[in-house]
Amino acid sequence: AKCGLLVVPLIKRKLKEEKAFSVIVNLLDSRSVMGDLGWVAYPKNGWEEIGEVDEDYAPIHTYQVCRVMEQNQNNWLHTNWILTEGAQRVYIELKFTLRDCNSLPGGVGTCKETFNMYYYETDDRAMKESRYIKVDTIAADESFTELDLGDRVMKLNTEVRDLGPLSRKGFYLAFQDLGACIALVSVRVFYKRCPFLVKSLAEFPDTIPGSEASQLVEVVGHCINNSMPLYEPPRMHCSADGEWLVPIGKCVCKPGFEEMSGYCQGKKRKSPSCSKCPPHSVARQTGATSCSCEDEYHKIDSDPPNMACTRPPSAPRNAISNVNETSVFLEWSIPMETGGRKDVRYNILCSRVLPDGRGLEECGPNVRFLPRRVGLSNTSVMVADLQSHTNYSFLLEAVNGVSEMAKDYTKQYVTLNVTTNQAAPSPVSVVRKGYTGKSSIGLSWAEPDRPNGIILEYEIKYFEKEQDSSYTIIKSKETEMVVEGLKASSVYIFQVRARTSAGYGAFSRRFEFQTSPYLTATSERAQASIIAVAITLALVLLAVVAGFLLSGRRCGYSKAKQDPEEEKMHFHNGHIKFPGVRTYIDPLTYEDPNQAVHEFAQEIDVSFISIERIIGAGEFGEVCCGPLRLPGKREIQVAIKTLKAGYTEQQRRDFLWEASIMGQFNHPNIIRLEGVVTKSKPVMIITEYMENGSLDTFLKKNDGQFTVIQLVGMLRGIASGMRYLSDMGYVHRDLAARNILVNSNLVCKVSDFGLSRVLEDDAEAAYTTRGGKIPIRWTAPEAIAYRKFTSASDVWSYGIVMWEVMSYGERPYWEMSNQDVIKAVEENYRLPGPMDCPEALYHLMMDCWQRERTNRPKFDEIVCLLDKLIRNPSSLKKLVNSSHRVSNLLVEHASAEGDCSARTKSVGEWLDSIKMGRYTELFVEGGYSSLEMVTQMTSEDLRRVGVNLAGHQKKIITSIQEMRVHMNNTNSPINI
Ligand code: AMP
Repeated sequence: AKCGLLVVPLIKRKLKEEKAFSVIVNLLDSRSVMGDLGWVAYPKNGWEEIGEVDEDYAPIHTYQVCRVMEQNQNNWLHTNWILTEGAQRVYIELKFTLRDCNSLPGGVGTCKETFNMYYYETDDRAMKESRYIKVDTIAADESFTELDLGDRVMKLNTEVRDLGPLSRKGFYLAFQDLGACIALVSVRVFYKRCPFLVKSLAEFPDTIPGSEASQLVEVVGHCINNSMPLYEPPRMHCSADGEWLVPIGKCVCKPGFEEMSGYCQGKKRKSPSCSKCPPHSVARQTGATSCSCEDEYHKIDSDPPNMACTRPPSAPRNAISNVNETSVFLEWSIPMETGGRKDVRYNILCSRVLPDGRGLEECGPNVRFLPRRVGLSNTSVMVADLQSHTNYSFLLEAVNGVSEMAKDYTKQYVTLNVTTNQAAPSPVSVVRKGYTGKSSIGLSWAEPDRPNGIILEYEIKYFEKEQDSSYTIIKSKETEMVVEGLKASSVYIFQVRARTSAGYGAFSRRFEFQTSPYLTATSERAQASIIAVAITLALVLLAVVAGFLLSGRRCGYSKAKQDPEEEKMHFHNGHIKFPGVRTYIDPLTYEDPNQAVHEFAQEIDVSFISIERIIGAGEFGEVCCGPLRLPGKREIQVAIKTLKAGYTEQQRRDFLWEASIMGQFNHPNIIRLEGVVTKSKPVMIITEYMENGSLDTFLKKNDGQFTVIQLVGMLRGIASGMRYLSDMGYVHRDLAARNILVNSNLVCKVSDFGLSRVLEDDAEAAYTTRGGKIPIRWTAPEAIAYRKFTSASDVWSYGIVMWEVMSYGERPYWEMSNQDVIKAVEENYRLPGPMDCPEALYHLMMDCWQRERTNRPKFDEIVCLLDKLIRNPSSLKKLVNSSHRVSNLLVEHASAEGDCSARTKSVGEWLDSIKMGRYTELFVEGGYSSLEMVTQMTSEDLRRVGVNLAGHQKKIITSIQEMRVHMNNTNSPINI
C-alpha cells in the first residue's frame, strides 16, 4: 500500500489466495451485469458512469470522479441493495485506478489519494444515509501519473475488504470521494462456503461459515450407509475462508462390511456351524443363526459374534477432589462393575453453583481440563482457571461402548462439590513509560489478566540498573504513577505487582526506563512555572478539600458529607496529588514551536517504523499503522499520522501542535504519544494503535451488542481521561464519540488535540455568526454564543457523548439543522433518553446539559458517580421512563431542583434494595411516600401499614436505623 507520498519502504498487502476447497458465491459482480447497474450518485455532478464495452462487447460499468481542484468535495455513490443469502461475512473486491496527486498540474492543492467505503445493513430496500458505517479508507497500491497515461499503462489496483458480522437480509455499499481522481472499474461482492464433503466415511453438508474471521463452525457429519461412528460422531470445522479444517473422529464400516473405494460393502460370509451362545445371551430358537442379549445387556455391531453381551459400567468410585487456589484435581477409582467391557471412559460435567440457590450454570469455555473433558481413559483430571471463592459441582460419569443403549443413566455418575480458594492475582504483563523528566518517570500498566478478586493496590519496586541490592517499593491504587526522586540520565528497573485480599501476585517482568539527561532552558522555565502553578494549585486544592470536609460535600454532586474512606482515596488515588500537580503548558508560550515539540515529544528515527496499511484520513495526510521497533524495546503496533508533501511552514506547525499537547499527557484514557519524526520527510506523529478505531463507528458497527455495564465502563474511561485533562487545565473543545478511540480491550481514550483541529479538521464543525467553526451539536450554549470554552463546556459535550454511547452511535438531534439545534437548546429542550438507557445515566446527561454552567457536575464527580453505578449494578436496572423516549422529539429540561430530587432514592427502590419490595404499595398507601418520612417510622407504624411478619419487621427496622445514622452523619437526603 502507498501511504500518501511516503518514502519509507512499504510492505505490500498480499491477498490471501483462495483455497481450492472453498466455493465462492458472487452476490454482486458489476462486470457481469448486462443492463443498467442502477447505482445512484449524489451529488449528480460527482461520480459519473462511463459506458464502455470490452472486447466481447459486454458492458463495463466504470464510475469515475476527478474533482481534485475544487474545495470541500463529498461525492457519494450508492450501490443497489445486495442480498446476503444468509452469509454472515462477505468480501468486497474493488478494482480501480487512482491518480497520483503529485502528477497534477499546480501541485497537490486539495487533491486526495484515498476514498472511503461504507455499508449499511437493512432487511428491506429502504435506505437511510445517516446509518452508513465506514468499512475502510481505500488507497492505491499504485497511483498513476500523467507519464503513465502517456505510456498507456493502466495501473489497476485490486483491494479486498471483508465485512461482518452481518445479520440482516441485505446491505448497501457506498463509496465516498473527498477530492481524489478515481475510476472504479469493478466491484465484486462474494462470500465463501464450505462445500459438501465426504471424509472418513462421513458426509458433511454444504455449510456457510460463521460471522467472525477467526470463527470455526463445528459441523457433525453423518456416517454413510453401513458405517457407524468410532467412539464419537465425526466432526469438521468450516472456516471463514470456506475451508474444512480440524477433522475430529471418524466413521468405520459396521461389522460384516468392509471399506472399498470410500463405501462400506458387505463381506462374503462362511456358513456358520452351531455353537454355544456367549455369556448373557440366548438363542431364541434351536438352530438360530444369532444369539440375543438378556435384559439390560447389550452388544454393539463392532463386538465380535462370540463376545459376551455387556452392560454399562457402574459409577466411578472413591472420587476425591484436591483444590489448589483456582484449580481442582479430581481423582477416582474404576467402577466396581465395568459391564464386562474394556472400553470404559470417563466424562466430566462442570457446573458453577449460583449464589442464593439460583441453581447451576455450566462452566464456560474458559475453564481448562487437562488432558481433556470427555473420553478420559485415565482416572484423574486437572480442572484449571476456575473462579476464586466459588462453589462448583462436578459430575463424573463412566461410560462404555453400550452406555448409549442403556435406559437408566442415574446409576453411572457421581457428583463432587468443590469450593475454590482465593488466588493471588496473575502478574501485570506490561509496564509502560509515560512523561519522563530529569528526576521522574511516569509509569502506567494494565490490570492483570486474571485479577481473581478486587485489586486493592499495586506495588512498584524499582532500583537503579545493576544496583539491585537496594531497591525501593512504593504503592499506588491506580494503574499509573509518577516515580520521583530519581537520578538524571540513569537507567532504572521497574517491576509491578497487584494485591487482592488473597495477597500479592507475582511481580511483572523487569522493565528498563531511563530518566532524561538534562533540562533545556525553556523546560527549566516550564518546570519553574509548573512548580509555581503546583504550589498555587496545592494551596487552592487544600482549601477546597478543607472546604469539602467542613461543608460535608461528598464525591457525588449532591450535598451529602464525604465518607472518611473516600477522603483518603482522594488523597491517594492520584487525581489530587501532593506534591507535584502538573499543568498543561500551552505550546503557544514557546517562541519556537519546534522547541515545544521536542520538549514534550521524543524524536524517533524513521528506520524504526514500518508502515503496513492506511487506516484513516486526517486533515494533514493519511493515518497509517504498522510496527514500531525501538532498540532494546518490545515491538509495538502504532498509528502513524503523516503530513502530506507540499505543506507550508504554518501547516507543519499546526500538524505538530497536536504532538506538543499530547506529549504532555500520561493517562490510561488519553491516547499516548510515542514520538514524532521531524528530522526526515514525511513528518510523522506516532501514537499507540487503537484496534477498534473511533468510538462512533465502532458503536454503530456493534449496535446492541454490549451490556449496560460495558457501556458504563466505556463512559467511565472517557470521564476519567477528561478528569485528567481538566485537572491539567486543558480544555478539549471537541469532545465527541468520533474523537474517542477504542482499543481491543474496549478501553476508550480521548484523542484529537489542538485548537486548529477543531477549527479545520472536524467535518461537524460549522461557522457561527461570530466567526470560527464549532461542532454545534456537541457544544455548550455559552461556547457557541460567546466562545466561553471551559471544562464545564467539555462536561456538556461529555453529556452528548454519553447519549451517543447509550444510543450506539446515533447522531445527536438526528437530521435537525444546526440552527434548529441551537434554537431548541436555547428554549430549554434537550435530547430524550436513548432506548433502554438506565434512568441514572439519563439524569447524569441532563445534569451535564444544565444551562448554567456552574450547575453542571465536574468530571471528578462524574467519575465518582459512574464508579458507584458500576459497583451497584442494580441501580442501572430502572430504565428511562418511556415518555422520555418519544423517538426524535426533544424533552423539556427539568429544573435543577427537580433533577436533584430525582436522584434521591425512592421508597420503592429502598424496599427493593432490602428485598422487601412487596410492601411498596402498603407504604405509599399508608402515607410514607419519601424516605425522610420512613425514617420517622416505629415498629408500631410498620404493623399499622401491614408489615406483620416479625422477620420482615426486623429487617425493615434495622435498615431504617441505618438510614437514620446515615442522615445524622451526612445531613443529606439518601442517595442512590
Ligand atoms: P484523526 O486525524 O486523528 O481524526 O484520525 C483520522 C482517523 O484515523 C480516525 O477517525 C481513526 O479512524 C484513525 N486513527 C487515528 N488515530 C488512530 C489510532 N491511534 N489508532 C487507530 N486508528 C486511528
